[in-house]
Amino acid sequence: MAHTASLSWAFTAWAFALGACLGSFYGVCIDRYVHAIPLRGRSFCFGCKRTLRPLHLVPLASWLFLKGRCAFCGSPIGFAAFFVECVSGLAAAALAARYGFGPAFFAALLFFGVLIVLSGIDAACYILPDALVLPLIPAGFLIAVWGLGMPWGESLAGGLAGAALLLGLRQFFFMTRGVEALGLGDVKLMVSLGFVCGLTALPVLLLAASLSGLAAMACRFIKASGRLSLRRERIPFGPFLAFGCFVTVLWGEKILLRGSILETL
Ligand SMILES: [Zn+2]
Repeated sequence: MAHTASLSWAFTAWAFALGACLGSFYGVCIDRYVHAIPLRGRSFCFGCKRTLRPLHLVPLASWLFLKGRCAFCGSPIGFAAFFVECVSGLAAAALAARYGFGPAFFAALLFFGVLIVLSGIDAACYILPDALVLPLIPAGFLIAVWGLGMPWGESLAGGLAGAALLLGLRQFFFMTRGVEALGLGDVKLMVSLGFVCGLTALPVLLLAASLSGLAAMACRFIKASGRLSLRRERIPFGPFLAFGCFVTVLWGEKILLRGSILETL
């Protein structure tokens, strides 16, 4: 028993390291998309254009050791790179603890990897690129059915209902306020997220996404000392949808079970 527990701890730790390494790559993908630089070619400093050495690219450790600055010219690297590595490492560790070693872990790791890149791009420039969002739709369905073992009808209904709901909300705000409260990218993203979460757990996804989005708005409002117009403030919804999906995949069943127990009391 103790042997199994230590094995699962070792796997979780390995997953964290793998996630942090992947996070380093995700950070590069986000940066290069935002700055319109091709993905090919070795990592370089945006300040002095010098190619980074392997020691400058160790996930988490390099950023901490260099205090977030380029080793050659001292220009700031930015906290975002470190943050993406942290998020990716922690997400991989949480997925490892949830699924253990097997196809479900690797399928979820792949899916959430793309979501991390999409979230970073959306946070930086309010775009969810079709080049990533559209392939995620069939991938999400395949991952749900073959990776996570979800019945295909449940998955299909989750994706279609989720996207229809967001599309309805988008139309509602268009008609009543004349504003684009939700981008079409969010609607397209919702198809794959709904596929992975399934119809039953869809309320958990939407609740977690809305609450985390509201919390982020509140933080921004407090940070700006109340000088922010909440009606005009633009907020990327992609990262919160992705977070909602992550919460649902990890704890959706438990949350739904607790809800149904409370209803019977
Ligand atoms: Zn530099």
